[in-house]
Amino acid sequence: MTIPRLIDPFGREHHYLRISVTDRCNLRCVYCMPEEGMEFEPADHILTYEEIADVVRVIAEMGIRKVRLTGGEPLVRKELEKLVAMIAAIPGIEDIALTTNGIFLAPRAALLKEAGLTRVNISLDSLKPERFKMITRGGDVQKVLNSIDACAKAGLSPIKLNVVLMNGLNDDEIADFIEMTRERDIHVRFIEYMPIGHNDAQWKKLYLPLTRVKEVCEERQWKFSAVSSVQGSGPSENYRLEGAAGSFGLIHPVSEHFCQTCNRLRLTADGYIKPCLAWTEQFQVRSVIGDDEAIRQMFLEALGTKPENHEMSKFLKGDPDISHTPTSRRMSQIGG
Ligand code: SAM
Ligand code: SF4
Repeated sequence: MTIPRLIDPFGREHHYLRISVTDRCNLRCVYCMPEEGMEFEPADHILTYEEIADVVRVIAEMGIRKVRLTGGEPLVRKELEKLVAMIAAIPGIEDIALTTNGIFLAPRAALLKEAGLTRVNISLDSLKPERFKMITRGGDVQKVLNSIDACAKAGLSPIKLNVVLMNGLNDDEIADFIEMTRERDIHVRFIEYMPIGHNDAQWKKLYLPLTRVKEVCEERQWKFSAVSSVQGSGPSENYRLEGAAGSFGLIHPVSEHFCQTCNRLRLTADGYIKPCLAWTEQFQVRSVIGDDEAIRQMFLEALGTKPENHEMSKFLKGDPDISHTPTSRRMSQIGG
């Protein structure tokens, strides 16, 4: 039997699956979750590790090579190392990454590495303790900094830091984040605040295009040059300050979409395939786990609905003429 590849109607072949392992989180970042009243999926809707591994096994045969574990906060799920080891054992999987807020990571970095994790992205939106606490609604920045050190020690590299840039909240720290890359081999990724699943007014107030990052470098007369690739950097546009050990990147899904090279699919914690982050389409694969052919067919059906691009820039202009319905899921209910 010839197993079909994961190719969408626009000829894009998919090699990358982002798996949300939980919709729960120990933090409540202002751009991701409300302070109170967040409702979570009941435990019996959440995919078990065995179910997740089963889906990955089937679609690895269809061409998936890279997996990222995300959430909610993936490290609130018990013994995540077990899932990492299960996925690492699947033929065809070459790369297993983790996106985490880093609060619980330091004591687990070595165990995760041993289980087969290759890389981590750590979210860190401020280096200032009080501000970090405000943005995350309660987080301790020192724990995240300790996790960065623990990952470097465990050999989880390259370490990437995800910084969601927000107007008037952390844009005065752009230079501090870039300065971090002078001495340390880390990759700082500035990410545009996306209008996913929530509050238009807040997004309009806080959204800042990433052209600001280059302006900051220019104001300081820093010399920087383009870096061709940082492992697993996907849609990021990457730069290095002259003589720096690390690098920095810009991910601008809103101001300049990069959908033409999109090779990613998403699996939500409650067992839905999402072909596009921004739109409402979702396919419940949970109900067919155990039937490999049905899983394959559902992935192909999901891919068949994948839009050419997410049209987030139309949000910027308030343009009502969009081709799909925006998702009502929040970022924590998709996985970012
Ligand atoms: N809890 C983990 C963390 O924070 O890294 C993983 C899940 S989180 C949803 C994944 C990524 O999405 C994080 O880097 C977070 O900063 C980012 N994110 C969440 N909401 C966002 C938004 N509205 N716009 C841009 N990035 C967002
Ligand atoms: Fe939690 Fe990550 Fe969302 Fe922050 S961005 S609330 S850490 S899921």
